[in-house]
Amino acid sequence: MNIRVIPDCEVAKTPIGLAEREPVDPTDVYRRLTGFAPLAASIDADADFDRHIFACIISVAASEAGALTEGLGLSPENLEALISKFFGAHLSLPPEDRPTAGASDLEESEMVREILLENLSPRNPEGEWLAAMIARRALEPNHLWEDLGLRNRSELTRLMERRFASLAARNEKNMRWKRFIYRLMCENDGFVMCATPICSNCADYRGCFGEEEGISRLSSDRSRKSMPGA
Ligand code: SF4
Repeated sequence: MNIRVIPDCEVAKTPIGLAEREPVDPTDVYRRLTGFAPLAASIDADADFDRHIFACIISVAASEAGALTEGLGLSPENLEALISKFFGAHLSLPPEDRPTAGASDLEESEMVREILLENLSPRNPEGEWLAAMIARRALEPNHLWEDLGLRNRSELTRLMERRFASLAARNEKNMRWKRFIYRLMCENDGFVMCATPICSNCADYRGCFGEEEGISRLSSDRSRKSMPGA
């Protein structure tokens, strides 16, 4: 499933079709949504930051196999509303493009979404879309910031502080975000993720607090490597 933009049309005024399944370059999707290359976009203003975040997540999900709505954890109606609100484009999805993840994945994703929603402020549709998207992308195997398509981890920290401030405030030790959320999930379920009471004695310390280095999935270098024939 890809995002296909009608050629030579203006950014954000374009019908976006999602009718074909073939690998796409996420940097191209981002550019067509926003008018900028991912690494060149200025995100100082909150409004620009919000558009950047949504464009990153949509772009990285669009570069993967499967239905875009499944990769984003959004219903077609919510994805259409998101695209319309932030990019001014009309999105057409085939009616069969519905979430298809396995039941256990959906259950895990739902638990993460609930934690995020409990800490969402202000509560509004775009924040709810983000909670669903982050929860779905947390199922992917890389660092969370990478699987959200962000440029670096600091963008994820800013996102958490901007939208889920009460949750971000509890991560005072700067734990890896996915680990942090999953630890809360364990606690909510009455389980304990930690093998020791003190982090400095824990064999899994690096798993929780290690550097989260990596190349953005929206980096053109990384995209070229992942494209067929590259
Ligand atoms: S480092 Fe170990 S003890 Fe600390 S939060 Fe991670 S798993 Fe728990």
